[in-house]
Amino acid sequence: MSVDEATDATAVADRIREGARRIAEAGESARRAGRDPVNLPMIRSWQEALGDEDPRYEAEGVAPPAMIQVWTMAGLVRGEKGGRSADDPLGATMRLLDEAGYTSVVATNCTQTYHRYLRVGEEVAVSTRLEGVVGPKRTALGEGWFVTTRNVWYVGDEPVAEMLFRVLKFRPPEPAPPRQTVVPPVVSRDTAFFWDGARERELRIQRCAACGALRHPPGPLCTACGSDERGWVVAAGTGAVHSYVVHHHPPVPGRTPPYVVALVELTEGVRMLGEVLDASSGDVSVGTQVVLDWTEDGAGVVLPAWRVAP
Ligand code: ZN
Repeated sequence: MSVDEATDATAVADRIREGARRIAEAGESARRAGRDPVNLPMIRSWQEALGDEDPRYEAEGVAPPAMIQVWTMAGLVRGEKGGRSADDPLGATMRLLDEAGYTSVVATNCTQTYHRYLRVGEEVAVSTRLEGVVGPKRTALGEGWFVTTRNVWYVGDEPVAEMLFRVLKFRPPEPAPPRQTVVPPVVSRDTAFFWDGARERELRIQRCAACGALRHPPGPLCTACGSDERGWVVAAGTGAVHSYVVHHHPPVPGRTPPYVVALVELTEGVRMLGEVLDASSGDVSVGTQVVLDWTEDGAGVVLPAWRVAP
């Protein structure tokens, strides 16, 4: 880190601490009322969802204490009763950290305290205050700040439950640059002549030095006569599609799907795989005449490819 970067980081940290101090000093937010009073249908649904078969809640008309957040849960519709209040300290702290580049959030821990059972029919409201912002801390997820808020639930003016809630607000690591390189070819003693040719934009076909048979892919022995005497010839660069696929999935580095890959029968008689450039599925069929072209990726790997013949 340079001196300037260190100074900038200190300024950002100071700004966050100052902002957090102001939010904390503002104290409790306005109380936000729940959408519905404590009610039996919600208690039954919650008990079913959690597999809690205790009959006493319904019999005595009280709610399971761990339901406390349920009674003031925000609605899905923006602006509906139950949404976050305008002075919500957690929202303000999140904005403060977002602006400083700490844009990701993960909840870390939560402690609830219940002062008494809630009874069916009671109206519950909640308020929040910021307890503190601590950081910056290095974590496995990235550098971040721990934000602790305290919720207090009220019936009238009586506090009935509290929750300390802590989140880590962190700066996500820079995404790795997208890979532009095709999977590099494996070059062996048998195939080096082919890749040497590709670099020269010359399509080479292996040729048996004993009987003259052509073969592709290259190999150590002639399949016609068994000789290991090898040479090569340069292909004319013309052929016809013997078979092909239109590749949609899975993703391949350096390629944007869909694209066409064809098994091309060269005029010389051997078959070779290659992408048909700038072609869609409608442009290619079995027998389509193609001509040789070349592609080169960012790492300098040159591959033969094809284009539909004009
Ligand atoms: Zn041979």
